[in-house]
Amino acid sequence: MSSSGSHGAEGSSPMDHYHHYDQQLQAYQSGPAAATPSRYESQKRRDWNTFGQYLKNQRPPVTLSQCNCNHVLDFLRYLDQFGKTKVHLQGCMFYGQPEPPAPCTCPLRQAWGSLDALIGRLRAAYEENGGSPETNPFASASIRVYLREVRECQAKARGIPYKKKRKSTTKGNAEESSSSTIHFS
Ligand SMILES: [Zn+2]
Repeated sequence: MSSSGSHGAEGSSPMDHYHHYDQQLQAYQSGPAAATPSRYESQKRRDWNTFGQYLKNQRPPVTLSQCNCNHVLDFLRYLDQFGKTKVHLQGCMFYGQPEPPAPCTCPLRQAWGSLDALIGRLRAAYEENGGSPETNPFASASIRVYLREVRECQAKARGIPYKKKRKSTTKGNAEESSSSTIHFS
């Protein structure tokens, strides 16, 4: 039995407008505090809106207060379909080779560094948007464990050890993260 009251409100979400944030921020760059019109800030805003849209698109939709680390983990796995980093499967003849001499059919993933930077931005955004540090799902231990597993798996598969990056808790570290932007299609 299908209930007869579906309001197709899909097209009218305010999140639809998130693509325009960048343009607004760029137009804003003549402001006084805009030596660098922080790419980090605009990226963080985009990430945050994308995550919000992702939660809304769940069936049933997930509100921010319901959001827990499992939603975040699902989000990270969901992002892999937009990844651009070749991660060889164990059976691939190029497994563990940093520069394979030929193409292979292994899947593309989000690079660990991109996910790590993304989580950092979303963790900050969560608290800037009223979330409590105690319930911050982006700061949970299971996210750290997941990211570590991804890093180790990718390091083995690609034969490229990840350099130990200094943990930075400051929010203005734009240059570092700009090279590891997540690209949504
Ligand atoms: Zn491969």
